[in-house]
Amino acid sequence: MSALEAIKYSRGKLEVLDQLRLPHEHHYDDVSTSEEAFDCIKAMRVRGAPAIAIVAALAASVELHNGSCTATTPEEVIKYIDSRLDYLYESRPTAVDLGNAVRLLKKTVRGVKTEGLSDAEAKEAIVKAFIEASEEILAKDLKTNKSIGAFGAKWLQEQYKITDDSKITVITHCNTGSLATSGHGTALGIIRTLRDEGLLRHAYCTETRPYNQGSRLTAFELVHEGIPSTLITDSMAAALFRLRKAEENIAAVIVGADRVVRNGDTANKIGTYQLAVLAKHHGIKFMVAAPTTSIDVDTLTGDEIEIEQRKREELTQISGAVVNADGSIDTSKSVIRVAIADQRIGVWNPGFDVTPHEYIDAIVTEKGTVVKGEDGKFHFEDLIPERFHSLLTHSSSAFVIEPEYQRPFAGVVDDSSSSTSSPVHTTNDPHVQYTYRKDLLSLHKSLVEIPSISKTEQEVGKFLLDYLRNNLGYVAKAQFLESSSSSSSGDDDDHSQGRFNVLAWPSSHNLSSPSVLVTSHIDVVPPFIPYHISETDPASIKPDTFISGRGSVDAKASVAAQIIAVEELIKAKEVDPAELMLLFVVGEEISGDGMKTFSTAYNDYHNNPQNKKGKEELPKLKAAIYGEPTENKLSCGHKGHHGGVLKATGIAGHSGYPWLFKSATELLVKALAKIIDTDLGSSERYGNTTVNIGLIQGGVAANVIPKEAEAGLAIRVAAGDQATGAEIVKEAMEKIVKEVDEEGKYLKMEWNGAGYGPVECECDVDGFETMVASYGTDVPNFEGDHTSYLYGPGTILVAHGDDEGLKVKDLEEAVEGYKKLIKHAVGK
Ligand SMILES: [Zn+2]
Repeated sequence: MSALEAIKYSRGKLEVLDQLRLPHEHHYDDVSTSEEAFDCIKAMRVRGAPAIAIVAALAASVELHNGSCTATTPEEVIKYIDSRLDYLYESRPTAVDLGNAVRLLKKTVRGVKTEGLSDAEAKEAIVKAFIEASEEILAKDLKTNKSIGAFGAKWLQEQYKITDDSKITVITHCNTGSLATSGHGTALGIIRTLRDEGLLRHAYCTETRPYNQGSRLTAFELVHEGIPSTLITDSMAAALFRLRKAEENIAAVIVGADRVVRNGDTANKIGTYQLAVLAKHHGIKFMVAAPTTSIDVDTLTGDEIEIEQRKREELTQISGAVVNADGSIDTSKSVIRVAIADQRIGVWNPGFDVTPHEYIDAIVTEKGTVVKGEDGKFHFEDLIPERFHSLLTHSSSAFVIEPEYQRPFAGVVDDSSSSTSSPVHTTNDPHVQYTYRKDLLSLHKSLVEIPSISKTEQEVGKFLLDYLRNNLGYVAKAQFLESSSSSSSGDDDDHSQGRFNVLAWPSSHNLSSPSVLVTSHIDVVPPFIPYHISETDPASIKPDTFISGRGSVDAKASVAAQIIAVEELIKAKEVDPAELMLLFVVGEEISGDGMKTFSTAYNDYHNNPQNKKGKEELPKLKAAIYGEPTENKLSCGHKGHHGGVLKATGIAGHSGYPWLFKSATELLVKALAKIIDTDLGSSERYGNTTVNIGLIQGGVAANVIPKEAEAGLAIRVAAGDQATGAEIVKEAMEKIVKEVDEEGKYLKMEWNGAGYGPVECECDVDGFETMVASYGTDVPNFEGDHTSYLYGPGTILVAHGDDEGLKVKDLEEAVEGYKKLIKHAVGK
């Protein structure tokens, strides 16, 4: 028997099987407008992520084919198409496939060459491209399903070496067949292929409460196709595995997926997770079948997936056909609804659940089957390399970002606050309120409220990704750091996912050639201090209102002000968004590992001729604007940094006979005293090199001559330049060590890395007061010949302290300052 057709399409005509009337009736709805498609999706007459996307795309095609678009110029035609797609997207905004289809179609119409064409010809070309792209989605889906079926069956064959005598039994959940897709199906596609290849003994399907897609749809499809099959309720799976596994050779649970995230965690119909747990317990393989379009590499783990709650009536009531006294179904009467629970009972009805990757054995896609790596996680880099941008995954192949379009879901985000009225010019006037104050303060608050002590920046990173993508419509990506060797030390409590920088492009155009980087860091020093604002009533917030909390100055004030400044400039059309790239790095407070990762990825690209083959050479960044607390003054640079541990080794002995032994602490103290008194180098701009003896330890007891002692030193380098300063300090220190330990065997300075001398920044910009800073930044960690600017709100004197905080007007002045700096840097 042939597979069911859920979607019947020929150019200009779309019919969609009404799945609510199944299994007793086959009724096709004519769908010829976006509104009809919207209703059809919303009412769940069509369901399944791929099918929804196909119906939406084809409905818009039919509508266009029938002349719904009255616009004449190419721009207006694209605008019209965008509005239809945005509307359709609203029918099921959580469906990944629908979002992908909307993006693809928007991209397609923008790629149509219309130069030299009349308006009418251009319109025809755009409509034709749209229709062909929609039809391609349908054709591709069918091909995808067939491949999934083949790969899935092959993998099972490899696992079980199935023969005629050892055919396998499988169980599936929900509906993933031809009704949820264009045909064949994903999980059900594997079952079909197993049957076709003579490998299937029997298929079980679950009822799939509460909406019964299993009993209504999958059972119907299995029967319709003559596949040997049995229906169970969801709660019978455990008993089935226990009682019939051996007898029926139950080998696999095969399910579909709404969404598979980066580590393999899978969101699917409620009940999937319990089947996975049961399968593991009973030694049954658990397989997820999903097209690669359902893989979401931007979401890191299943914890990030928000689970919708569905209507209570799905549990307390049920619809169905009337059964006659003789057991036949009365199709003459319409479907009736009956109550099956006390209507007053509270109901918990999550729409789906998330199965952790630990429980999944294989994820089958149209491009192949993925199993877990040695680290116990799924890796999709080889399967879909194009979705793992090299700059973002620390390999070195390209710096080109695929063109994407800004605000693909305009209308989803509330744009009501995007007033473009220009702000008034001074922040000190108590009556002035910048139009962006509310956005600025709420962004700053959100950032400060999320603890992000160095090495635990993931949560604030996720927040930023979400904010930049969904509130601003930017393209935002996570750039992962190589997992450091320290992660094996065992005292880090989060190895489950890597740390990452956040990279973002405000541009809606080809994103390959930004000229200015706007950057700051998202990690803070310990301990966490909660956000506090001196004025709790939003209406009473004044320029002098004080905000405190860890990171409120260093450097989340910069992060918030930079984002708002970029957004203001774009809204006012004062800069081309294609000129800008945003980077928010981790680890600035400890080792600069975040910025170093970015720097390596960026420079690898530019230094590797391989990447330039056949591509236009991309311009390098002209400038980088770094955010750090400089009291809204433009820094002309900052001191360099070098440091390490001064270690003394002595000979232990009785404290009464110091001349017979060697005291490590005595040596150390003598050396430290000398270091404090010695000029380690100075310069006119940066003053003296300073030393902080931050940590001293040594000895075991008062009556024992100590064998070991050490001191941790942080040295702020004022002499020389960025390349030579650290060497100058090192020489001066070695000299002291030699003087104190003439034998050269008891005292040793162990340096942390190479260090660097004073770092110069550009401070010749009109309208800024200037300063020099005495602290380290990420400026030297981004290697290259770009111009560096260092600027930001708040003072370093409170950063890292118990009373870290700043005033509203500091933040607002910083937004204005960043706007000025960005314009200056772009124009240079
Ligand atoms: Zn900082």
